[in-house]
Amino acid sequence: MTGRDRSQPSRLTRADLAALPNYVPGRSPADLARELGMTEAIKLASNEVPFGPLPGVVEAVAEAAAGAHRYPDLAAVALREALAEQYGVAADRIATGCGSVALAEHLTRVTTLPGDEVVYSWRSFEAYPIITATSGATSVRVPNTAGHGHDLTAMADAVTDRTRLIFVCNPNNPTGTSVRRAELDRFLDTVPDDVLVVLDEAYREFVTDAEVPDGLTAYGDRPNVVVLRTLSKAWGLAGLRIGFLVAQPEVATAVRKVVTPFSSSVVAQAGALAALTQAEEVRRRCALVVAERDRVTEALRKLLPEVPTSQANFVWLPLPTLPGGVDRAVQFGRVCESRGVIVRPFPGEGVRVTIGTAAENDAFLAVAETALLFN
Ligand code: PMP
Repeated sequence: MTGRDRSQPSRLTRADLAALPNYVPGRSPADLARELGMTEAIKLASNEVPFGPLPGVVEAVAEAAAGAHRYPDLAAVALREALAEQYGVAADRIATGCGSVALAEHLTRVTTLPGDEVVYSWRSFEAYPIITATSGATSVRVPNTAGHGHDLTAMADAVTDRTRLIFVCNPNNPTGTSVRRAELDRFLDTVPDDVLVVLDEAYREFVTDAEVPDGLTAYGDRPNVVVLRTLSKAWGLAGLRIGFLVAQPEVATAVRKVVTPFSSSVVAQAGALAALTQAEEVRRRCALVVAERDRVTEALRKLLPEVPTSQANFVWLPLPTLPGGVDRAVQFGRVCESRGVIVRPFPGEGVRVTIGTAAENDAFLAVAETALLFN
């Protein structure tokens, strides 16, 4: 048998996937602690909240696990009804999925064909280029403003006849910046009616600027707007994987059609239902995160004045590569890691740091001072 030339790439999978970036998960703190010989490391890399699951979630998950031999409710009826009540929208406008990242992927799938365009700001959520490329569509990246936010005027200009979908990440991951009501109104007015605009509001619960609109209340009546939310962040369920969207019934129905069947598990649905009874506790926790975010921002600005105002549960340290080629973001990340603090460097651009407990943030700030000295 003549074997194929193994120096050539395999043809079993699409050749263009090789050019795609990998989604980078935060490093395991247990691994790092072992490597450094420390009792524990601090993970501030994945925008999780630091308080553990909400009251009642663990019990609900354990109880639901007794039914793990049965398939979950495909239509997630109880969960959609609970979300409908929580957010004051009709349940037929809601679709749930295995994290909001899966829903972003489904939205790309229900709107684009190969050659169609997806517009988003860049740098933004790292999943957008991956899901766009895997659906066969073309990414149109509009550079962030000098202040690290969306350039909505340039994004409007980037819309063509091929544009089917636009992501507006508000607040933006990883820079924490947000767009305000007046500019978003103007932008939405310019987008053609048959182009879907996804307001990705994964961090909505941490927003304190009254000028930053809540997509559900501000744009619920716009047929081409979809609001994407998650229970992973403020609601503390990152490990259970439940996200949801609110859209026109037509769009929500299309998404429910393409969702991977049964991808919201029995335990995830039960945990989400339990979490949704804890809105008051979520507000209390978010207030703690917000107070810490503002404290960390102020402290960091003494070291790096360019740190932008964040409306999310993380802060962004702009650390572009120096003219001599020194990658300050990577270097900063390395120094933090060597001291047991895991942050999220974006090579050549900057570092995203999740807000943790006050003690974790203090540990980070102490390390940041040293790490910036090295820069
Ligand atoms: N959107 C944004 C802007 C995010 O930052 C994230 C998570 N990093 C997601 C969506 C996806 O979150 P999940 O899939 O856990 O709901």
